[in-house]
Amino acid sequence: MEIKIIFDKNSLNGGYSTGWGISYLVNNNILFDTGEDWQYLSNNFRIMGVDISNIEKVVISHNHWDHANGLWELLNSRQGLEVFVCSGFGREFRDKVNKLNGKLEEVNKIRKLDENIFVTGEITGEYKSKYMPEQAMVLQTDNGISVLTGCAHPGIVDMLYLVKRHFPNKRMYFVGGGFHLMDKHREEIENVVNGFKELGVQKVGPSHCTGDYAESMFKKHYGNNFINLKVGRVIEV
Ligand SMILES: [Zn+2]
Ligand SMILES: [Zn+2]
Repeated sequence: MEIKIIFDKNSLNGGYSTGWGISYLVNNNILFDTGEDWQYLSNNFRIMGVDISNIEKVVISHNHWDHANGLWELLNSRQGLEVFVCSGFGREFRDKVNKLNGKLEEVNKIRKLDENIFVTGEITGEYKSKYMPEQAMVLQTDNGISVLTGCAHPGIVDMLYLVKRHFPNKRMYFVGGGFHLMDKHREEIENVVNGFKELGVQKVGPSHCTGDYAESMFKKHYGNNFINLKVGRVIEV
């Protein structure tokens, strides 16, 4: 299965737009998050040769601008998209999707989006002491389970254990996205890396809000199995 890195903070070359937030395209038809700005996304789609008329579904990990802001123009350009959200995103978000003729799907528990592609549905999280529901995407291949996360506000290791409950006999192959460790103490970051090891995660792609120190720790522990999610790259899982 293929993951195209459409938007993130680093890129393969200067032609791509980079910035805050993420957007990853799975199998050319399911988009996970939409970055901070549609202009950046559309530029990168163009360079990577992605035809947005092939995109059928969009999963929004959580209701933060750097993950959802590209959605509104995307809905204008690509009518009738299915948009998978958590119920807890709030009324304003849902109304906006409906107004732009998106097909709103609220996900509360794990749900199949396509053959071997799932979304976890709402996992309760917290951001700046406020309720922040979030969902992750799960891909199942011969290599095992791969998980894509937006910011992982509910806690990346907790989220992975929750995913594992649904796929108890599968190994964890790849985990990539934002792990939100940039404001965490070193000891806490070490516990997270150990958590990954205990879960048997084979490859990691910490990016976005993971933070420099946490990224360097993952790099140290994972070596060649550390994957830099640069815009323009295509990751095979
Ligand atoms: Zn974020
Ligand atoms: Zn966030």
